Amino acid sequence: MTKSVYVLPGDNIGPEIISEGIKVLEAVNERLDLGIEVRYGLIGGHALDVSGDPCPPETLIEARNSDAVLLGAVGGPRWDDCEREMRPEKGLLRIRHALNLFANLRPVIMYPQLITASSLKPSLINDLDILIVRELVGGIYFGEPRGFRILESGEKEGFNTLKYSELEIRRVGKIAFEAAMKRGKRLCSVDKSNVLEATILWRQVISDMSAEYPDVSLSHMYVDNAAMQLVREPSQFDVIVTGNMFGDILSDISAMLTGSIGMLPSASLNEKAFGMYEPCHGSAPDIAGQNVANPLATILSVALLFRYSLGVPDAAFVIEDAVGKVLDRGFRTLDILTDDTTLVSTSEMGSAVIEELKVTK
Ligand code: NAD
Repeated sequence: MTKSVYVLPGDNIGPEIISEGIKVLEAVNERLDLGIEVRYGLIGGHALDVSGDPCPPETLIEARNSDAVLLGAVGGPRWDDCEREMRPEKGLLRIRHALNLFANLRPVIMYPQLITASSLKPSLINDLDILIVRELVGGIYFGEPRGFRILESGEKEGFNTLKYSELEIRRVGKIAFEAAMKRGKRLCSVDKSNVLEATILWRQVISDMSAEYPDVSLSHMYVDNAAMQLVREPSQFDVIVTGNMFGDILSDISAMLTGSIGMLPSASLNEKAFGMYEPCHGSAPDIAGQNVANPLATILSVALLFRYSLGVPDAAFVIEDAVGKVLDRGFRTLDILTDDTTLVSTSEMGSAVIEELKVTK
């Protein structure tokens, strides 16, 4: 049966990196004769400009009718003064929530060719391979009540709510334990249970679940310590599971271990393995329109899409292998450029990956 991928380029560098991701998807589609159909839609600031809504109803309908979604990035200063509910980032939160994409998987893998592009010493990041599992549709980003209010003193106050139910913790915990079973069998749950009640429950539920996974060695860490440990000795981690905001921050820290945020892909899954795939970075307005953005996080997100949602793991391996070979040839976008390597543009990097796909048997 024909599989369909719904593509949401978004804003700023979004369309630039997505066009390279799609070049790769189409090349693999042709090479393996997969018959994948690609359709495009609107999200973020561009959707707001065109339709008056950062996540139009048609986008949700089309996404639900697809086998997977590939998204670029949203947002930028142009829309910063919009009404809060109409901001591009709200559109992204809405699609994640509407599709119930509660588990965000962020593989943090060190390509050995980029070891000198990392801000850490090579001895600390050799063979780095961490999987961060971030809860994506709960926690403080979605908790109600939220808003602004006027205090008795006449001062304005902004407020948000951090809450997690047992069900929300358990379903993302299951994904993390199962991922650990397939990897190094070590799971570190990150919380702030010395201060926050919601994360006291988080720790209890994850601890209780460990009885179901006797082969997985479970540890717990406070988020402030985890941030420090990630830059002190990252190789101590195998799988990390954490809440929405902590995962957002820790995965950006982890991105820099690999050399650039432009290298980090992600998969956001629901309980049926339907997924939305996007690079971990934002829309990078500072470099938009210059053909300098690194498209590899998006191309590697396409690999995850083949692996998790389209059930074609061979396609994922072929893409990951091609990315490695392009790095072997010394091609680098500006963010990962080091001495003795060759600067290429966004589109040249995409084309180099395609060339390697053609020669890989
Ligand atoms: P950002 O990730 O867009 O950029 C941070 C820095 O990383 C910038 O210097 C940028 O040039 C660089 N960078 C990012 N992606 C890169 C790539 N592929 N290649 C080379 N360099 C890259 O974060 P920001 O500046 O905090 O946010 C910019 C906008 O993006 C904001 O509107 C923010 O809300 C939005 N945002 C969107 C998402 C998303 O769509 N998933 C995620 C984070 C931020």
